[in-house]
Amino acid sequence: MKNKNLWAPWRMEYLKALGLKHAQKEQPSDPDKPDECFFCNYWRTPDQDQTNLVLWRTRRSLVVFNRFPYTAGHLLLAPARHVGDLLNLDEKSLLEMMLLARDAQKALTEAIKPHGFNLGININRCAGAGLPEHVHLHLVPRWTGDNNFMPVIGHVRLISQVLDELYRQLTEISQRLRLPSVKT
Ligand SMILES: [Zn+2]
Repeated sequence: MKNKNLWAPWRMEYLKALGLKHAQKEQPSDPDKPDECFFCNYWRTPDQDQTNLVLWRTRRSLVVFNRFPYTAGHLLLAPARHVGDLLNLDEKSLLEMMLLARDAQKALTEAIKPHGFNLGININRCAGAGLPEHVHLHLVPRWTGDNNFMPVIGHVRLISQVLDELYRQLTEISQRLRLPSVKT
C-alpha cells in the first residue's frame, strides 16, 4: 500500500541508493576550452545522443541525463551556448530552459511518478557547480522519505543499465506525449 505510487518498489530502493557520493563528479573542463565541455561535445554530436543519454535537443538547448545522479531521472538542462551564468544568456534560451523543465517534469511524472522535484542552478564552483563554465539547470525527482540516502551499493555497470532503461522509457513517453512541446 505505501509503495503503490512507486514505479517499481524493488528498484526504487536501489535507485535511491545511487546516492550523493557521485553527484558532483561531472566531467572536468577548462573555461577556455569548450572542446573539453561535455555539454558542448554533446551538442556537436547529435548522432551520439543515445550513447550520451541526450533525451532532447531543441534549437537552443539540450536535456541530458546526469550520469552521476542524486536519483534516477536526475536531468540536466543546458543551453547550447557555452556560458557560465544566466547573466550572459539570451532571453529566448532562458525561457526555453524553463519550458523544457516543465516538459521534463511531465515526462518524469509519467515514467516514475515522483512525489516532488527540485530545480536548481549552481552558479560558480563555490555554489557547488560541477561544470561552472556552462550553466545548466538540475531537475531532480524526489520521493517522500528519500532524504536518507543510503551508501552507494551499485557499481558503474549496473548504474549504466538503470540509466539506459530509463532513457528508453522517457524516449518512448516523449514520443507518445509529443514532448518537448517547445516551439522555437
Ligand atoms: Zn560548454
